[in-house]
Amino acid sequence: MEKQTQQTPLLKVHDLVKTFPIRGGLFGKKVGEVRAVDQVSFDVYQGETLGLVGESGCGKSTTGRTILRLYEPTSGEVEFEGKSLLKLSQEEMRQARRDLQMVFQDPFASLNPRKKISDILEEPLIVHGIGNDKERKEQVLELLQVVGLDKHHASRYPHQFSGGQRQRIGIARALSTKPKLIVADEPVSALDVSIQSQVLNLMEDLQEQFGLTYIFIAHDLSVVKHISDRVGVMYLGRMVELADRDELYDNPLHPYTQALLSAVPIPDPEAKRERIILQGDVPSPENPPQGCAFHPRCPYVMDVCKKERPAFVDKGNRHFVACHLIQ
Ligand code: SF4
Repeated sequence: MEKQTQQTPLLKVHDLVKTFPIRGGLFGKKVGEVRAVDQVSFDVYQGETLGLVGESGCGKSTTGRTILRLYEPTSGEVEFEGKSLLKLSQEEMRQARRDLQMVFQDPFASLNPRKKISDILEEPLIVHGIGNDKERKEQVLELLQVVGLDKHHASRYPHQFSGGQRQRIGIARALSTKPKLIVADEPVSALDVSIQSQVLNLMEDLQEQFGLTYIFIAHDLSVVKHISDRVGVMYLGRMVELADRDELYDNPLHPYTQALLSAVPIPDPEAKRERIILQGDVPSPENPPQGCAFHPRCPYVMDVCKKERPAFVDKGNRHFVACHLIQ
């Protein structure tokens, strides 16, 4: 069934930059910086899932965290429902987090091992002043049921659950404040393949039930394809391509996206796709290449690519790409 998404963006990210200082020497002086997110722009529409994909270290997780101000952005703009998140005070941001939640990759590390599940799920309700004691307890039991767990799990501790169950608890915690947007950072990467699809299906059901909007971060293109309506591809802190899911997978324009997709197995044994092997490693974000960051590995590199950074432009059909070949 085609999902209904609205045409006004729920979230607008414009020219987002996040740098981290590199410190060295006896006094920890700043000796350089890592540009983890480098002028990233995209919109997210109400009710959709935007997948963010790329190799480890490409800045996708930092982008997610910077949007929610778990890391303070260096520059750029993030608007949620038409309001700038970056202009909010700490207290206003704390209140805004009711609408903006996160699901983490490692559910074990993100759940306090000394707390019972009931306390873990009740905590965000207390922080945001939601309900009285009785109502909160009822809501905790409801949340467990919503994510496919049982009421009696409330009195258990995180170590008493499997990885898949722990991620369900992580999702229940994110849902507790009835958010509008959830940033899910590699939510199934730590799970067995057999459990991954159960958690993905749960996330899809919850999206439909509660009208949720997701930013879904993953390095696995098959997982992203399964769940996303649109997909953005990141490389070395930059967004290099963004398009509707089928458009991106059927008609990738950027040479990096083409290489990534060529490595994904295709179900039809008759269909042939040539594997593109990229030369070299991803360069260090401490010292990114001039011009197009992908140029040292690109099979189509031209002189202009080494000097000028390609603009991120709409080639029609909501298909954005940053490549001099396509300009
Ligand atoms: Fe390759 Fe040049 Fe396009 Fe970069 S801009 S991906 S180097 S062709």
